[in-house]
Amino acid sequence: MEKQNPAGQQAQPDKNALIVVAGAGGFIAGSLVRYFQERGFTRIRAIDKKPLPEWYQQVPGVESLCLDLSFRENCVRACEGAGEVYDLAADMGGMGFIERFRIECLRSVLINTHLIEAANRAGASRYFYSSSACAYNTELQKDPKVRALKESDAYPAMAERGYGWEKLFSEMVCQEYWAERGMKTFIARFHNVYGPHGTWDGGREKAPAALCRKVIDAKDKGCNKILIWGDGTATRSFMYIDDCVQGIDKITHCEDLIARPINLGSSELVSVNELVDIVEAIAGTKLIREYDTTAPRGVAGRNSDNTLIQSILHWEPHTPLREGMAKTYAWIAEQYADRKAGKRTVS
Ligand code: NAD
Repeated sequence: MEKQNPAGQQAQPDKNALIVVAGAGGFIAGSLVRYFQERGFTRIRAIDKKPLPEWYQQVPGVESLCLDLSFRENCVRACEGAGEVYDLAADMGGMGFIERFRIECLRSVLINTHLIEAANRAGASRYFYSSSACAYNTELQKDPKVRALKESDAYPAMAERGYGWEKLFSEMVCQEYWAERGMKTFIARFHNVYGPHGTWDGGREKAPAALCRKVIDAKDKGCNKILIWGDGTATRSFMYIDDCVQGIDKITHCEDLIARPINLGSSELVSVNELVDIVEAIAGTKLIREYDTTAPRGVAGRNSDNTLIQSILHWEPHTPLREGMAKTYAWIAEQYADRKAGKRTVS
């Protein structure tokens, strides 16, 4: 049974309840599993459709299962005995992936649809859904000097084609499970998450990891150029992984945030060019920039308005970009060197 703390409206989770984390072979969910284990949760079930050797992180002592959660029966198995369920499984990637593979993105709707039903039938007390800033109305994101997006900006809806609409629909599914069936659901709209143990190569990687890899590659090959997607002026905010997993925990145990989508992102806005400056400074190099204006680049500008999270949780993601990027760069440099040395690494 959960104990309530009325002052902060934060529920104290039962550390012996079974925590189910979907998408655990991936970047964010892998770190979430580790986070919960480090905080003393004794029963964690981690699930991903990827074979176990391909997971970024496998945490010892955690039940790790390879299941495709777009099938109902696998979701039923995943949720057996579940106390809390976290859905971070999705077929996704950076702009290069979500602009090209809209059907794959849309088909992630099967995961949340089956998983939330299975969680509800299994009697789970809390359900977390990982939404995205791509759910916001794209009409509001046409200027790099963007006004930060607040939660109410998702409607009237004109989400990112494919990926964004799937997120918006799945948010609504979560809200209705609370409205009709009384299951406590929690929805965070992530804004660009980055950090170690994520995709850095292969086509699904996002800008921070891609830029680290390109700079590392240029240094390694003695090349003085870097190819940048877009014209470098697009702006974004980037949230470090440690802030992300802490935020997921805070949101999912906050009684004031039931069925209420909330931004989980940094409000430190930078242009792509400024992000390249940061990576170059970490690497101790300066490269000639070439811009590919035909490459996928997404909206012109996007930032997270953190008024709601500040007012409810008295907290917001705070890791400075420079600090988080230094750790990310170091991890990718290690992966790069391992791969070059012929050691098997996942990317
Ligand atoms: P990721 O690709 O690293 O992890 C997602 C994992 O889900 C992968 O390991 C994948 O194999 C797994 N998966 C896909 N389909 C599955 C299925 N049918 N059954 C079981 N597992 C399946 O991505 P991530 O960056 O860790 O993202 C996690 C969640 O956060 C996703 O819902 C994503 O849309 C959301 N999100 C991420 C970001 C970001 O910047 N990384 C931003 C906004 C939203």
